[in-house]
Amino acid sequence: MTPTIERGPEGGFAVGPIDGLLNLARKHSLWYLLFGTACCAIELMQTGGPRTDTDRFGMVFRSTPRQADVLVLAGTISYKMASRIRLLYDQMAEPKYVIAMGSCANTGGLFQESYAVVKGGDLFLPVDVYIPGCPPRPESLCEGLMLIQQKIEREPWLKKAWGKYKSDKPDPMPTEGCEPLR
Ligand code: SF4
Repeated sequence: MTPTIERGPEGGFAVGPIDGLLNLARKHSLWYLLFGTACCAIELMQTGGPRTDTDRFGMVFRSTPRQADVLVLAGTISYKMASRIRLLYDQMAEPKYVIAMGSCANTGGLFQESYAVVKGGDLFLPVDVYIPGCPPRPESLCEGLMLIQQKIEREPWLKKAWGKYKSDKPDPMPTEGCEPLR
């Protein structure tokens, strides 16, 4: 599946299955949504800064879900915010990926006893990668983003685009055929 770069008389060219070539382009242009609900969002912002520098992987933030590929759940999620986050997720175009960043997004974290806090983002979103920590450092988030890249690399993209591929991550709240949340 991995394309190779060959040298020709008039320069280089890439050779490989079309799935591999498409995935090569997709994995190096992952745009994440600049959105957070609590303190982990500060680490998310820092990850885009010069020290971790996700731009070198082609990862830049977008301020609109319509142009974003990755939703990072960064922070404590209250029930009130969960429906808003789901709305943002539904507004993102396929293919899209979700990272649960930090203890709060994974399980509710410090606040899991609270009546107002959701005990994990996977209760309302199909999460691809979980990152432990309170908060996880930018390096951890960077590794999570690279795990998404590895997942993209293995995806049979054309089969997926033609609807012949069943995803390995079930959506806990499938909205197919439903009115979008308002
Ligand atoms: S995991 Fe820790 S740092 Fe992140 S939102 Fe929860 S309390 Fe804040």
